Amino acid sequence: MKFRAPGRVNLIGEHTDYNDGYVLPVAIEMETVATARPAAAMRFSSTSNPPPGWESYVLGVEKQLRRRAVPIPNLDIEFSSTLPIGAGLSSSAALEVSAALAFIAAAGFELPAMEIAKLCQQAEIETVGLACGIMDQFISLHGRANHAILLDCRNLAWRPVAIPEGITLVIADTGVKHALASSEYNTRRKECEAAGAALGVKSLRDATHDGGYKRARHIITENARVLSFVEALATDDRRALGELMAASHESLCTDYEVSCHELDAMVAAAQQCPGLIGARMTGGGFGGSTINLVETSEANAFATKLAELYPGVSIHVTKAANGAGRQSP
Ligand code: ADP
Ligand code: MG
Repeated sequence: MKFRAPGRVNLIGEHTDYNDGYVLPVAIEMETVATARPAAAMRFSSTSNPPPGWESYVLGVEKQLRRRAVPIPNLDIEFSSTLPIGAGLSSSAALEVSAALAFIAAAGFELPAMEIAKLCQQAEIETVGLACGIMDQFISLHGRANHAILLDCRNLAWRPVAIPEGITLVIADTGVKHALASSEYNTRRKECEAAGAALGVKSLRDATHDGGYKRARHIITENARVLSFVEALATDDRRALGELMAASHESLCTDYEVSCHELDAMVAAAQQCPGLIGARMTGGGFGGSTINLVETSEANAFATKLAELYPGVSIHVTKAANGAGRQSP
């Protein structure tokens, strides 16, 4: 049995998921496929040459499922992926979700997609030690072709938002991942909790003024930008889309301090390329990728020019894809 799970880019709403806020991610065409066969003992392999220790993601998912009394039989699972590892496109969630689907099916079990997202998130928090929100695992399961998904991370209500025709997603991978990515991520989470406590709110989602806290200012303004962005998609207001992405990047840079010079340079280079609608860093930051919304008619010219301006960039031209599921043989 084969199960596929896509990676993602987030169009806007960065670092808002663990603050009970709004996110607007898209599942992408690059994905991980888990091929599972019955076996005498558990065995996991990967065709992606991952760094040592990668199995902990899969073991973490297995542990979460066993905790929920899912009777997983022994399996030989081979993972193969078209996703770059560590590029901010959530190869980790794709790995977790493809593994979860294989385990659950082999056990003859069924679980709601949102439960699978939650237990994969829990696996990453407990086993990998990253205090991540639910966005990556959620979108890998809930993605829809040609749509972004608006998720309210407070009550997990969500709805697809159509991406207007003629807009192509161009992902630009800087190829760097700075070592402080995960420690700073956990630090931001603590800083948000502290700012929320000082402002007297349960989470920064509820804050109406920033009280001088830069982290709070990012979350408050970013949540508002997500809702404006959804509106701009609905009215196909490409100028507004670009302005909101620019403001998001600036806020992540200045108020949230999770960008880096490679991401800033990539966003700056995109401004000189034909067909750009909007560009910003996407994902946790400190390296990884930028997301560029580009006029489809100019997508190839855009990619060519960006590669010229930023030698070494890996460019992925993609569109919104469906969420995880069984792959027909
Ligand atoms: P990202 O999710 O942005 O790609 P992470 O650092 O969160 O980056 O996750 C990357 C890690 O996930 C890898 O170092 C590896 O341990 C694991 N991983 C992801 N995809 C695979 C795969 N196809 N095979 C094996 N391990 C993988
Ligand atoms: Mg990840």
